[in-house]
Amino acid sequence: MYVTTHLFAGAFIGAVLQNPVLAGIGGFCSHALLDAIPHHDYQRPIPAAVDIGLSLAALFMLNKSAGSLAFTKNPALIGGFMATLPDIEVGLSFLAGPKRRWRLIYPSHSGLLTHGKMAFPMGFLLQLAIVLLAAMGIHYVL
Ligand SMILES: [Zn+2]
Repeated sequence: MYVTTHLFAGAFIGAVLQNPVLAGIGGFCSHALLDAIPHHDYQRPIPAAVDIGLSLAALFMLNKSAGSLAFTKNPALIGGFMATLPDIEVGLSFLAGPKRRWRLIYPSHSGLLTHGKMAFPMGFLLQLAIVLLAAMGIHYVL
């Protein structure tokens, strides 16, 4: 699933929970639940760059939305950040290509848990719907 989708879902969970520790745990665990939903994954660098750019912009906006609050007092930001963390190993694996010599460890990346697949455009539209619902939820809760 796209990094942006994980980020918005994790931020929504954090906004609902309103506790930094639970937000981090909830965001991190939500990654596996979302990966189980059939979805589209890109395989090329340009969509990856767009996805990472959107995610960084969303993190910046979440940080700004909390005003002067520190990172540790912004559950939406923590939930969003922790939801994206497992995809760092996917990005590193993408960069390493066939030369990769390590195993992916997050359960939905290692094969321990289901990683659903859905072709473009439906797999994209589903994630767009998740992002929009999460954004509306964050707006409603905060
Ligand atoms: Zn993932």
